[in-house]
Amino acid sequence: MLDVDGVFHVSGQPIPGGADAVRELRSAGHRLRFVTNNTTRPRAQLSDDLRAMGIELQDEELQTTPRTAARALRGKRVLALTMHAIVGELGGIELVGEDAEAVLVGGADETPETNLVFSFMNLARAFHELEAGADLYCLHKNRWWQTRQGPLLDAGAFVAGLEYAAETDATVLGKPSPAYFEAALEALDADANMTWMVGDDIDSDIAGAQKHGMKTVLVRTGKFRPDAVERGRVQPDGIVEIGRIRRSLERYPRFRERCFTEAERAYCDSRANPAESYAGRFAGKEAVGKALGFGVARAFAWKEIEIAGRPKPSVRLSGRVRVWAQRVEAGSIDLSMTHSRELANAVAVVEDG
Ligand SMILES: [Mg+2]
Repeated sequence: MLDVDGVFHVSGQPIPGGADAVRELRSAGHRLRFVTNNTTRPRAQLSDDLRAMGIELQDEELQTTPRTAARALRGKRVLALTMHAIVGELGGIELVGEDAEAVLVGGADETPETNLVFSFMNLARAFHELEAGADLYCLHKNRWWQTRQGPLLDAGAFVAGLEYAAETDATVLGKPSPAYFEAALEALDADANMTWMVGDDIDSDIAGAQKHGMKTVLVRTGKFRPDAVERGRVQPDGIVEIGRIRRSLERYPRFRERCFTEAERAYCDSRANPAESYAGRFAGKEAVGKALGFGVARAFAWKEIEIAGRPKPSVRLSGRVRVWAQRVEAGSIDLSMTHSRELANAVAVVEDG
């Protein structure tokens, strides 16, 4: 599952490597679903935008929140605070100005229409309906998103405001709601534990998918902020950009010696694409460090977590990392690594010793 905004583009500006990554994933046989919380444009237009960036996809592979809403609210009388462009996606819902059974709040966008949709008059109207007994729904509850001009306030603030005023809780229909991920898994005919979610949002994408039992990759683009990862309780299973490793290998000759053991270097250098193997190991070491609760911020740790390449990835600890593992009574470590042209991922599971 691939998030769209912040992964493939920022404010419509393509992020380099996105189209290649999709091509590579497809040729490796992966089934793909593009899962977006975009609530301001119809699906056909969104997939046209992606195709214009060179990304190959069918309209049906794109999952949008208005369609989830149409399913959840079918047959209901709904007061919708949403962009006009998505009204066509809300088929089966009766849109009303009063006596609503539900209030539906959509997302903001970068146009002045946002001023109208979330005007005081409309918010007060919504509040009135909630007071009269309507249920509150939202397409998402995002705090902000990344635009070319920087972070921009999203409609989550209005949802929270209505919740506060009407003393109610909104039902979220987009990511990270279970309903959204369930619909996506169903469309892929996939098991959660065999599915990876790739996104730039630590809450909506990573935490949401993890709660659903999926593996996760956080990309270093869009709204990615290193400090949010460090502060947060949620940790993705891996984050490594192969390009970054390749650049480090070229620019800093000592990077190899500092982070990888002799055996690892011999293995990686013998591969057709050494940068990919190094990146895989780098992600692997990061995952093992995290799983042990040790972290790899201390320079010596990189080399003390050795990953053998053959016959299958196995982990050997030495030095202080090994002492630490004994202290926390860590048992055997199961490591799996994958990579595409752009990204390397690793998941480490440490058994109780
Ligand atoms: Mg995103």
